[in-house]
Amino acid sequence: MTDILGPVMPFLKLAGQLAAVFYVVFHLSLVFWVVRDAQRRGAMAWFWGVATLLFGVLSWAVYLVVRPPETLDDAHERELEIAAREAELQRAGSTCPHCFKPIESDYLICPTCLKQLKKPCSSCGRPVKSSWTVCPYCKTRQAVGERVPDAPEGPAAEDHAQTHVASNTPKKKKAAPAQNEA
Ligand SMILES: [Zn+2]
Ligand SMILES: [Zn+2]
Repeated sequence: MTDILGPVMPFLKLAGQLAAVFYVVFHLSLVFWVVRDAQRRGAMAWFWGVATLLFGVLSWAVYLVVRPPETLDDAHERELEIAAREAELQRAGSTCPHCFKPIESDYLICPTCLKQLKKPCSSCGRPVKSSWTVCPYCKTRQAVGERVPDAPEGPAAEDHAQTHVASNTPKKKKAAPAQNEA
């Protein structure tokens, strides 16, 4: 046998040495991979590193079975996603009751379907639901059922209304002769 193998023995030896070197490199890289993966997943990195150093592929196979299913980054990302979704759900109450498009809580009309959502408070001007009897911001009583946003009560409003009429009156006087001529 040795006579037959004689000429190829050096090559076999070299192949064996190469295989040994390859195995050592493979073994060490396996340890490196397990330690790094265990760190990313919050598993006991040092334990799995030593175990893989001792038992090689066997320990690596066991680690693949029992390792935590997701990395710490994945878990963190998932928590952020859940928090964002919860915040979105909390805001989801503010949708237009007519077209169900998202709106902000201080919108006076829906920007999509132009339905009136709230009216400005007659005293402080902040958005108040038409069903509310009192402004929650300044405690001013609101005229219930009133849907016209710019019809505030009180003396200031009357003054405003009078000036409004006064500014309109000359226009009517001017318009009247024009109609007569025509
Ligand atoms: Zn709408
Ligand atoms: Zn108010």
